[in-house]
Amino acid sequence: MKTLGVNMLDVKRSNRHTIVDLLYFQGPQSRKQLAEKSGLTAAAITMLVNDLIEEGLIVLSDEKKLTSKVGRKEQNIDLNYKQLYSLGVLFNFDGIFLMIATLDMQPVFSYRFDLPPLPMDFSSMVEKICEKLAYAMVSNGIHIQNVIGIGVSVLGTTDSEHGISINSYGLLNKSENIVESFRKYFDLPVIAENNVRAYLCGLQFYERKRNRESTLFLNYSQRLSGAFQVNGNMYMGSNYNSAQLGHTTIPNNDRLCHCGKRGCVDTLGSLFWLRHDMIEKNPSLNPEMEVLEMLDLYSKGEPAVCEVLDRSIYNAALVICNAVVALDPQKVILHGHYFSNQKYISRLMGEMEKINPHAKQITSVSHFNKQIDSLCPCALAIDHFFSHGAVLERPSQNNA
Ligand SMILES: [Zn+2]
Repeated sequence: MKTLGVNMLDVKRSNRHTIVDLLYFQGPQSRKQLAEKSGLTAAAITMLVNDLIEEGLIVLSDEKKLTSKVGRKEQNIDLNYKQLYSLGVLFNFDGIFLMIATLDMQPVFSYRFDLPPLPMDFSSMVEKICEKLAYAMVSNGIHIQNVIGIGVSVLGTTDSEHGISINSYGLLNKSENIVESFRKYFDLPVIAENNVRAYLCGLQFYERKRNRESTLFLNYSQRLSGAFQVNGNMYMGSNYNSAQLGHTTIPNNDRLCHCGKRGCVDTLGSLFWLRHDMIEKNPSLNPEMEVLEMLDLYSKGEPAVCEVLDRSIYNAALVICNAVVALDPQKVILHGHYFSNQKYISRLMGEMEKINPHAKQITSVSHFNKQIDSLCPCALAIDHFFSHGAVLERPSQNNA
């Protein structure tokens, strides 16, 4: 009997998920439209919607009223976007970014911490972050009961099932337990994910477009990394390392990579190595040069920068084309500083056209910017909230 009870609860959560997903990704609509699209009965929709209205998650919308065939006006309903908030934290080599956003990804608070000495003292950093978030909630009149969760994104290999950052290339200590650390301060669901997968999740919620296609998503702001989504689901790989194209190897390269392998693309394309190779050719270049400065010199045609970056672009084109052959995705999305540079991207597309025209044809560039990047962890919390039936979870009371 107990199993039946759990199953009924699962069904209810799954139906609630269907409703909130339809409202979020397809906009305000009537109960009748929800019934048609979900395949649920009108009676079931009425019951579920009444529950959601009572909980304050859904409101009657006065924006659009549709007239049915018999001329009756139908009341549209919508999610109560300004009522619920999600918290987001992004750990990156250019800082730690905090964000509080409404359910429709509108930021209400953002803050950036400089990186402490690495690898960081994680527990004291989490304490600072949580203090800052708690203070921001108070000053913005946000009550904890209206917060759906915290999304945390970290670069590198992340075990999202257990909420552990396995290897963030020296940013955090290895096997840092993110979920446990944040739960000490907030009795909220904590969702930890690799930063590229967080981008991919954020992209869907930001653009309000559920991605049902098989997508290879590549991020290149410091290092080339990626995520692979199959029919709307993230493919993690057996070690949470799928689509890490920066660690595919190329010939005639015996450099030892921080991942332990030799000859990775990363040892020719990471900021550290690009800078190293450029300065070898032109010692007067700034040894502290950041990515944007490098790309600026590339656009202006600085010979050493062009020579090294052009070789790196060829490598990137090669691994992307090979990945397209191996994974056969419907589309490839490129994201990050390098791919946002006009000269870089047109050269990359040119190389891809020569190697594999099909790969070039399915590739496009995302129009993300830094602010949207730091919103992405919030989307992790929203995604978790939706997929768990839009129930405000409090882990300490979780006895289901
Ligand atoms: Zn490597």
